[in-house]
Amino acid sequence: RTYLDYNASAPLRPAAREAVLAALDAPGNASSVHAEGRRARTIIEGAREQVAALVGATPSEVVFTSGATEANNCVMAAGWAAICVADIEHDSVLAPARASGAEIIKLPVSTDGVVGLAAAREALAEAVSRHQDARRVLLSVMMANNETGVIQPVAKAGNMARDLGIQFHVDAVQGVGRLPFQFSDIGADTLTISAHKLGGPRGVGALIVGDGNNLPALVRGGGQERRRRGGTENVAGIAGFGAAAAEVQRECERSSERLQVLRDMLEAGVMRETPAAVIIGRNVARIANTSCIAMPGKPSETLVIRMDLDGIAISSGAACTSGKIGENTVLAAMGLDASITGSAVRVSLGAGTTDDDVTAFLAAWKKAAGGTALAA
Ligand code: PLP
Repeated sequence: RTYLDYNASAPLRPAAREAVLAALDAPGNASSVHAEGRRARTIIEGAREQVAALVGATPSEVVFTSGATEANNCVMAAGWAAICVADIEHDSVLAPARASGAEIIKLPVSTDGVVGLAAAREALAEAVSRHQDARRVLLSVMMANNETGVIQPVAKAGNMARDLGIQFHVDAVQGVGRLPFQFSDIGADTLTISAHKLGGPRGVGALIVGDGNNLPALVRGGGQERRRRGGTENVAGIAGFGAAAAEVQRECERSSERLQVLRDMLEAGVMRETPAAVIIGRNVARIANTSCIAMPGKPSETLVIRMDLDGIAISSGAACTSGKIGENTVLAAMGLDASITGSAVRVSLGAGTTDDDVTAFLAAWKKAAGGTALAA
């Protein structure tokens, strides 16, 4: 099989697996004072340092959660008067933002998939004066989009938030390990990451919360994680997260260069085999591993299924968020035509991807996407 769906979940790294297994075998609750408890605490705090180092935060700013979905929910549920977001954000930002009762200010998106900050500035300034408290207004911008890989102007958004005195959240799930950044440099008050996109285990993530920020806890009881997230810690998950973070930090730059070469090879091959294909976001900066390809006339779900039958795992937009295949909401938010949104697939590469995987992809793609239009 050729696995090209790293943006959905990356295979577990051997170092992460080892750390998970070692932690599973260590008994003890990290809140207990005995030796077993202290051992669990040591594992958690070691991982906290590794995760902090990956994102350029201090260990005290790392709050372990059950994943990025929980971390994003924690931020969106914090009682905002207004939240400014684009429709290309992940559902784990959009759904809790919409359910929060806050006024929603829409951040526009270009057809290339980049958010338009300047256009939202006035609406944000108005929201600040209407609500008479800039600190209850939140701007949320993802670092890179999960479907298109398009890199968003988070540092500029951070500057704008600072100018307006409002709070700023970054969903960095698809950017971490792929783009160099430091939490302290991008002007974010909070930032979300997930272990399983880095080759760590599923079901663990972190919310980075700047020291001194009084964001309320979403999960209360027990007082763990400095009262920011109650519940006995997932020691094994956290240990695996730390091990993956340490490896990713070492590899980041080299890995992006390697993946860019493979992605360029893949896209050149696609255009050679199927010249009618459209590569979304090709004109703007993208993370190196992601390619979103539309094949007008060929429904996404048919392409994904045909590729799967040929041993290639790729995804179609909505599959990742809803578990079933539907319209790609990210591409729709970019204002793209239904012939594009209904025929797009996402190919995402990662640490284990080789030249042979690209060759296998192209052979299957020629069969699945070439020739005349497919029946749905
Ligand atoms: N944010 C983005 C941009 C994502 O791509 C994902 C994963 O699908 C998430 C958040 C949710 O992450 P998790 O699976 O850790 O809840």
